[in-house]
Amino acid sequence: MRAFSYARAEDASAAVRLAGASARARYLGGGTNLVDLMRETVEQPDALVDVTALPAAIEARSDGSILIGAGASNTAVAADLAVRTRFPALARAILAGASGQIRNMATVGGNILQRTRCTYFYDDASRCNKRAPGAGCDAIDGFNRIHAILGASPACVATHPSDMCVALAALDATVHLQGHGGSRTMRLVDLHRLPGGRPHVETELQRDELITAVELPALPFAAGSTYRKVRDRASYAFALVSVAAALDVGPDGTVRDVRLALGGVAHKPWRASIAEAALRGRPATADSFRDAADAELADAAGLRHNAFKIDLARRTVAATLEGLAGGDRT
Ligand SMILES: Cc1cc2nc3c(=O)[nH]c(=O)nc-3n(C[C@H](O)[C@H](O)[C@H](O)COP(=O)(O)OP(=O)(O)OC[C@H]3O[C@@H](n4cnc5c(N)ncnc54)[C@H](O)[C@@H]3O)c2cc1C
Repeated sequence: MRAFSYARAEDASAAVRLAGASARARYLGGGTNLVDLMRETVEQPDALVDVTALPAAIEARSDGSILIGAGASNTAVAADLAVRTRFPALARAILAGASGQIRNMATVGGNILQRTRCTYFYDDASRCNKRAPGAGCDAIDGFNRIHAILGASPACVATHPSDMCVALAALDATVHLQGHGGSRTMRLVDLHRLPGGRPHVETELQRDELITAVELPALPFAAGSTYRKVRDRASYAFALVSVAAALDVGPDGTVRDVRLALGGVAHKPWRASIAEAALRGRPATADSFRDAADAELADAAGLRHNAFKIDLARRTVAATLEGLAGGDRT
């Protein structure tokens, strides 16, 4: 590990100012991802700005929305009564990730900006365009079981690892940001990028831009939302494929509205807009759910070891929606 300075910011403005004073500063949340990457020398910041003193409150508003401070721990969000009742998919997604100890340390801001779990990214003996732009990608012809099936590029096939972000993408969350130029908001689905030719640029954030909060807009039918994660082990494993979904079925049995996002399949949490559009106004039946899943996965492309994820994603989408239509949220 290289030498670095450490400073604790008392508020967002101080955090941005402190980060701006160094060439390669990083914000430090719970450190459960960043410190690992520093040990592996993948991340080599010259300054850490500790942002764990930033607001961590979870504000359940009377209009049905919720504002979550970026400093809130993953555990606190998953345990919050308003989150569990208004947006159970979010609580379930968080609880499907990592372990109790890690969730106690991990913050909302850090979870959103956690980096890929591609093994070639972590291994500095491998070629990785994300770690060393222009170096090449050893995952493409390597062991690529956990890699992307949607939106990948010849430069990078890594996936975004967060469970929480998949639920946030489905639930139309907005991220509050503060940077050198002031504050702004951005839809969560617009924050992460697809890799294209520049996989080292992972987000649309500007230099030193800090996540200060996440906002979930009111969505009454999200009270029946769910998160389903398919993985190699029942706990302590990242998603092969995951689905966050909320379904609103009218009295005539047609889909009035739907929210759907996939995890484990792309460089960013994948909002399944094609499937959503295909479902609105259609009967809430197994056939419709399968057709919508097929439409969403039509452009999916497998690598040597991960082609099974295409069918797995189709089936997981269809099964999750069938479950919701039948009142099953597991
Ligand atoms: C063994 C293990 C298993 C795991 N399993 C899962 C899993 O199954 N599912 C899953 O989703 N996750 C899993 N994780 C990842 C875990 O969820 C993340 O490590 C955690 O959420 C990161 O949060 P943090 O606060 O510790 O972030 P940090 O490590 O502190 O930071 C991560 C990144 O975010 C940046 N950052 C932090 N806060 C802010 C902010 N407010 N604004 C801007 N940038 C910020 C940091 O600079 C850094 O780049 C696992 C981790 C481990 C170690």
